[in-house]
Amino acid sequence: MVKPSLRVAKKRNIRVPSGSKVKRIEKRTSKPHCSQCGSILHGVAFGNQNKIRKLSRSERIPTRVHSGYVCPRCLKSAIKAEVRE
Ligand SMILES: [Zn+2]
Repeated sequence: MVKPSLRVAKKRNIRVPSGSKVKRIEKRTSKPHCSQCGSILHGVAFGNQNKIRKLSRSERIPTRVHSGYVCPRCLKSAIKAEVRE
C-alpha cells in the first residue's frame, strides 16, 4: 500500500542536464476558490508552479480588480454595499 501522503502525488523520472535521471514528485493542486462564497474561480491558472511561471500575466488571472481572490458575483455585491453606505 502506498503511503497516504503520496497518494495525491504523481511520481516522474526527469532527465537532468548531466544525463542522469532524478525522481521528482509532482503534487496535484486544487482549483482556486472564492474567498467569500467558495465557488471555483474561472480563468485562473492552477497546477504546477513551474508551468504557471512561464505564462504571461494576463494568462494567469483575469485583469479585474481582486481577480484571483473573489468571484465576480461577490465583487459586484461588495461594491454595491460599499457605494450604498
Ligand atoms: Zn464568491
